[in-house]
Amino acid sequence: MEAAAVPAADVADKAPSAVVAAQDITRRYGEGDTAVDALRGVSLDVQQGKLTAVMGPSGSGKSTLMHIMAALDKPTSGSVWIAGTKLGGLSDTEITKLRREHIGFVFQFFNLLPMLSAEENIALPLSIAGEKPDPAFFEDLLQRVGLADRRKHRPSELSGGQQQRVAIARALVTQPTILLADEPTGNLDTRTSIEVMDIFQRLNMERGITVLLITHEMDIAEYGTRLVRFRDGRIQVDQKIANRRDAARELANLPPPEEEPADLPSDTVAVEHHGGVV
Ligand code: ADP
Repeated sequence: MEAAAVPAADVADKAPSAVVAAQDITRRYGEGDTAVDALRGVSLDVQQGKLTAVMGPSGSGKSTLMHIMAALDKPTSGSVWIAGTKLGGLSDTEITKLRREHIGFVFQFFNLLPMLSAEENIALPLSIAGEKPDPAFFEDLLQRVGLADRRKHRPSELSGGQQQRVAIARALVTQPTILLADEPTGNLDTRTSIEVMDIFQRLNMERGITVLLITHEMDIAEYGTRLVRFRDGRIQVDQKIANRRDAARELANLPPPEEEPADLPSDTVAVEHHGGVV
């Protein structure tokens, strides 16, 4: 196996310099006749400052790889490095510490706690550990994701786009090195999707945050710098994106949004909104 395409010396040199790297990963779910080989030998280096889009048919292994790269799941074989540290051989406590230090994860369905306000949801990764965010950093984060005036609202009082922004801010509150996002625009309309991609692009371009996101839409992938395509548990295509789209410019050229987002469900929001103006 070692004699395959990549010489061992290259692997040793390359992997630690990536923010996250996967080397020759396989992942089998189940055993015997019903076993599913979700990944069949995937290697992927995610270099600092890149915004990589992962595409591919449903069931091709995208989420499985993302979970393994986030140290949320373990490969059947192969190695994963996070910020230069190889996960194999580390204890679960050490892996948790490494994940907490470096990884921010954004789920497609937001996964917010309904009883908590937006700001409480965002601060949760810190409050679980008995910590509080630095006030200036937290304020900047709320401004950056456009939630400063929605901070006291609960998820049910927020639109889908606003809930996703809470989820993004929650992933950023620990100041991770890399943001992993599993179809972050999968449930959002076009304009809201561009707004979310604008946040990712600004974080990437202004702050140098590395982003790896899964999407089903080429339109979304084109905001990135690199496109990786999966098929049947393998990487089929890995290429640079020419003519990257610019979300901020596109938003500026769109007609102004509706007064209130159509899917904003709660009277509370309207009352508080108008109350603030009076
Ligand atoms: P994608 O993200 O590209 O849609 P996934 O990584 O979710 O693909 O899934 C890859 C394959 O692994 C699919 O055949 C899927 O059914 C299977 N799979 C994913 N998670 C599990 C699991 N927890 N148990 C069994 N099979 C799974």
